[in-house]
Amino acid sequence: MEIKSLIRPNILKLSPYSSARNEFTGDAAIFLDANESPYETGLNRYPDPLQHDVKKLLAARKEVPENRIFLGNGSDEAIDLVYRVFCVPGRDNVVAPAPTYGMYEVCAEINDVEYRRVPLTADFQLDLSGMKAAVDDRTKVLWLCSPNNPTGNLLSASDIEELLQWFGGIVVIDEAYIDFSMQRSWMARIGEYPRLIVLQTLSKAWGLASVRLGMAFAHETVIRYFNHVKYPYNINLLTQRQALTALAQEEATRARVEEILSERARLVTALPSFDFIRKIYPSDANFLLVKVDDADRTYDYLTRRGIIVRNRNRVQLCSGCLRITVGTPDENRTLLSALESFNKQL
Ligand SMILES: *Cc1c(COP(=O)(O)O)cnc(C)c1O
Repeated sequence: MEIKSLIRPNILKLSPYSSARNEFTGDAAIFLDANESPYETGLNRYPDPLQHDVKKLLAARKEVPENRIFLGNGSDEAIDLVYRVFCVPGRDNVVAPAPTYGMYEVCAEINDVEYRRVPLTADFQLDLSGMKAAVDDRTKVLWLCSPNNPTGNLLSASDIEELLQWFGGIVVIDEAYIDFSMQRSWMARIGEYPRLIVLQTLSKAWGLASVRLGMAFAHETVIRYFNHVKYPYNINLLTQRQALTALAQEEATRARVEEILSERARLVTALPSFDFIRKIYPSDANFLLVKVDDADRTYDYLTRRGIIVRNRNRVQLCSGCLRITVGTPDENRTLLSALESFNKQL
């Protein structure tokens, strides 16, 4: 199916806001076009609405053309745009496995789009026939998160491939945790699958959760409509500068990822020595999903010791589970000694 036939009719015919900085390209000495303050504060000018410098660096690093990159105020902006660009409120639906990242469902509700959840299998893989059965002629989007949050595992590449070939709508693969896994990004497949959208973020491995920068990689037609719908200056100048700095220092990120992976391995080795640990699920991310005897009690104990983990006890297929982010070596030591005390007093 052609991309344009999937786009909401009102978005297809939208004439987007054209900012002063959009219309002028070239060299100028005096800017009297945008009602900005003329006095130099370092921040008195509007930022580049299409973030050309950041995209240029990303394009080189990720080997993808600039016109296949969208930058958002976190990946959360891209998630919301998927609904706003493709899904007619009160009519269309989306299909996603469960459990997965909660924002897909929240954004569906905000946009009045039906959200259809299909439970993952017992080993947290896609139930392909269940997913296919949930799709009908009003299904616009399949949400896939790999490595998945909160389960931590990669989804099977051949299952994803099967859905990409089978489904006629948009397939989103959220790769927020890809930098912690050995899996190659699906980004490389956009030429082959023009209805594929790949999401990545600077919030996790890159250590920049507070700057809010998410990336969507997709066919240039998808990116064009994302740009039509987004707020004109969605990425502020400070964020653009931070992103440029971080992307120029890729080695620092890689070193931190290595340390997190070795700390993750240390936790996987240490945790089973406690009697109350039932299971540690395999992780391709910077967190572990851990099944314990009494999740609420363990969570409360850790909280009283000032250690906050994520209680996933009430999440589908995750009863008894805590999701624990891998911290610094010191933080992990403190966590392990708290768990040891908890174990002793049981
Ligand atoms: C953390 C996370 C994100 C990141 O969202 P940002 O808005 O970029 O901070 C996206 N997807 C998943 C699955 C996540 O866990």
